[in-house]
Amino acid sequence: MKIGVYPGSFDPFTVGHHDVLMHAVSLFDQVYVSVLRNVAKNPVFSTQERVDLIRRMVEEEQLSSVKVTYFDGLLVDHCREIGAKYIIRGLRAVTDFEYEFQIGAINRHLSSEVHTVYFMASPEHSFLSSSSVREIGAYGGSIDGLVPECMKNTVAERLRRQ
Ligand code: ADP
Repeated sequence: MKIGVYPGSFDPFTVGHHDVLMHAVSLFDQVYVSVLRNVAKNPVFSTQERVDLIRRMVEEEQLSSVKVTYFDGLLVDHCREIGAKYIIRGLRAVTDFEYEFQIGAINRHLSSEVHTVYFMASPEHSFLSSSSVREIGAYGGSIDGLVPECMKNTVAERLRRQ
């Protein structure tokens, strides 16, 4: 069974993340969306909120091969725990490449059995980041079309009152 893990902050999950996830679903038998419990990054949404929002979307879209969880510590250790041999990441621009290249090489160094697979962002999502959603939402702007429809209201409401 081909198991992939899509790790990220997902603070919050966007349609760009969704796009990458759908590519992964088409390639792997099982995909874990694994929310990084990154205390250092000081996320707006708690780990539980991020997991719950993504879980609700996965249920709504009946993505039966997708599991949603969280992790802290080293990604390669998480991969070992869940039996994933592939890490899934998305690439938007050249700036993403440098960062992804570096963490991809580090993970490869830590575990030669785990390979990273990259999906290019769709052109219409190449500008989109969680931080832009947080900023627009904090000022009460419309996040329509930027996050999956089923979580739009919850995310907008939460960003307005942060
Ligand atoms: P991290 O803090 O691990 O970078 P993110 O939630 O920001 O977590 O992103 C998770 C992954 O999704 C990264 O590989 C990132 O490059 C990718 N990604 C983020 N936004 C998009 C997008 N709009 N289109 C495609 N990939 C994206």
